[in-house]
Amino acid sequence: KLSNRLEAVANNIPEGARLADIGSDHAYLPCNVVKKGTVPMAIAGEVAEGPFQSALEQVQEESLTDKISVRKGDGLEAIEPGEVDCITIAGMGGTLISTILEKGKSKLEGVSRLVLQPNVGSFAVRRWLIDNGWELIKEEILEEDRKIYEILVAEKGEPLKPYQHINLEIGILFGPFLLKEKPEVFKEKWKAEKRNWERILKQLDDAVQNDDTASKRQELRTKLKMAEEA
Ligand code: SAM
Repeated sequence: KLSNRLEAVANNIPEGARLADIGSDHAYLPCNVVKKGTVPMAIAGEVAEGPFQSALEQVQEESLTDKISVRKGDGLEAIEPGEVDCITIAGMGGTLISTILEKGKSKLEGVSRLVLQPNVGSFAVRRWLIDNGWELIKEEILEEDRKIYEILVAEKGEPLKPYQHINLEIGILFGPFLLKEKPEVFKEKWKAEKRNWERILKQLDDAVQNDDTASKRQELRTKLKMAEEA
């Protein structure tokens, strides 16, 4: 059984899509959706030897070697252009996810959906999507084991569409759909963030002042202002 987090990622994979799961670790996600019949085949990509071996073992154990190809490679180097319809990247920071997409741009032609689950820094993913012609079509947020996760689903389209009636910077930080729906977990997350920023700001106010603390304070004040507006 998948974690609720991976289950939520899996639920956003289109029926019948050819899938690549990048940074697959144990390949739990591709194994699950292939077994369920959601997808006919999948590629599990891993850059690190340990997780790559875990993925190979898992796929062998579940007798799925004919349907899941486990490949070692950095990001989208694990796939060929046109090989998959959907890419999932889950359980890493938003900056790493956007770097993987940026470096692998040439492999995205023909891909129709991205399901991205940044653990932190989802703003970096939203920014990358906007800059590269991908339209966010759905966002989810969930809490599991006292951690909060966001899931971003994107398709080729009009990248600014979800941000039409809101301030762009605020939309990128909080997520346009989450901002609109304001689920309970979302409110909890940002209340906690806000308390954290206020605490750091107070420490900086008490610290020796220099250019560094000044710019950090400015950044925190901007974020606090955005949180209040949101
Ligand atoms: N996707 C799984 C999940 O959500 O449970 C595993 C997440 S695990 C925390 C992150 C995995 O991403 C690690 O196994 C790591 O080796 C892999 N990874 C990190 N950078 C990568 C890259 N550039 N290309 C492929 N895999 C990468």
